[in-house]
Amino acid sequence: MKQKRKYLVALMLCMQFLTSGPLVTADEVKEEVSPRLKKQQELLVKEPPKNNRDVLEVSTNENSSSYQARPIKDTWDFIEQIGEDARQIGQEENLYASVMIAQAILESGNGQSQLSQPPYFNLFGIKGEEVSFTTIEDNGKGQIYPSLASFRQYENYEESLQDYAHLLKTGLINDKNFYKGAWKTEAENYQTATKFLTGRYATDIHYNEKLDEIISTYHLINYDENTEERANENDDYIFPVPNAYITSQFGKHDSDFHRGIDLAVAEGTPIKAAKSGKVIQSDYHPSWGNYIAIKHADGLTTLYAHCSRNLVKVGQRVQQGQTIALVGTTGNSTGPHVHFEVNRSESLVQEQLMDPLEVLKIKE
Ligand SMILES: [Zn+2]
Repeated sequence: MKQKRKYLVALMLCMQFLTSGPLVTADEVKEEVSPRLKKQQELLVKEPPKNNRDVLEVSTNENSSSYQARPIKDTWDFIEQIGEDARQIGQEENLYASVMIAQAILESGNGQSQLSQPPYFNLFGIKGEEVSFTTIEDNGKGQIYPSLASFRQYENYEESLQDYAHLLKTGLINDKNFYKGAWKTEAENYQTATKFLTGRYATDIHYNEKLDEIISTYHLINYDENTEERANENDDYIFPVPNAYITSQFGKHDSDFHRGIDLAVAEGTPIKAAKSGKVIQSDYHPSWGNYIAIKHADGLTTLYAHCSRNLVKVGQRVQQGQTIALVGTTGNSTGPHVHFEVNRSESLVQEQLMDPLEVLKIKE
C-alpha cells in the first residue's frame, strides 16, 4: 500500500536535533525501507550528539567527561510548556515523565530546534515520513556533509509526547518489549530507566548521565507524581502567622526583586506550615537567616525565613498549621518578620517563584 505523502524540505544549518533519536521506530520496521533511506538512517545514527551545547556544559579531562546543567530560563519555560502533558501521559502509560521531559529537553535543545517548533512539534526526533530535513552534519573529524532524513510531524507537543510514549510501550514490530526496561513497572527509578535507554533509544553512551543531570537540576521527579492524589487534597494554603501586617509585597521594587512577602509579627510568634508537606530544608543562610522550606504534595514549595529558631528537621513530615519555627530577625532583616515564599520548584530558583498572595487566594 502506497500512501501519498507530503514532503516538506527545509535546510537546517544547525545540527541541534539530529543526534540521538530512536535507532529504529515501529513504522520503519513495518514498512519496506528503501536502501537509500536506510543509508541515510545509518548516517544519522552514527552521528555523535551535538545538541547539548545550550542544555549542558561538558567538562572533559583525559579520561572522562562529566555533564553539568546550568539552570536556565529557557529550560524552565520549556518544562512549563510540556510538563503537565508529560505528567499525565506518564501516569497513563506507566512511564517516567521526568525521563520523557529530560529527553525532550535534550533532543530538542529546549524546544529550540527547528524540528521541535511549529509546524512540526517533533520533540524527540522520532522518524517518520512527513517531514524531510536536509541537515548539514559533521562526521566528527570536522568534515561536513549534507544528509537527508525524514521525521514525523505533529499537531502539538502533546501529540509528540503521546507518540513517544506509544513507541516506548509498543517497541518494535519484531520486539514489542524493546523499551520495556524503561517502564515504571520494570525500572525501580528514573536512573534505571535512563540507563536502559542508553544505547537503545540513543547511541550516545553518555545519554543517561546527561538525562540524570537534567532531571536532578530541574527536579523533574515532581512530574512523576500523580496529580489525582493531589486533587483529593483540597485544603487551601493558610497564612504562616496570624494577624500579620504585610510590610512588603512580592515582585519588583524599583530595581530589586522581592522573592516573597514580608509578614511583620512579634518575635517568638509560632510560624505554622502553610500546608502539610515534607521539610526539605532547615538551615541558615546569610540573607534568609534561619529558614525552612517545605515541599507540598501539589508540587509547590513554601519557604519561611528570618526565624529565631527552626523547630523541624529535614525529612520530617508536617501537618498544615503545625508549628515549624519561631519568628525572628536573623539574616538580612531589620525587624521581626516572616519572609514567606512560594515556589513551583523545590530548587527555589527565582524564575519559578509565585506571588504568595495568589496561592493564599488573596489575589486572583
Ligand atoms: Zn522579604
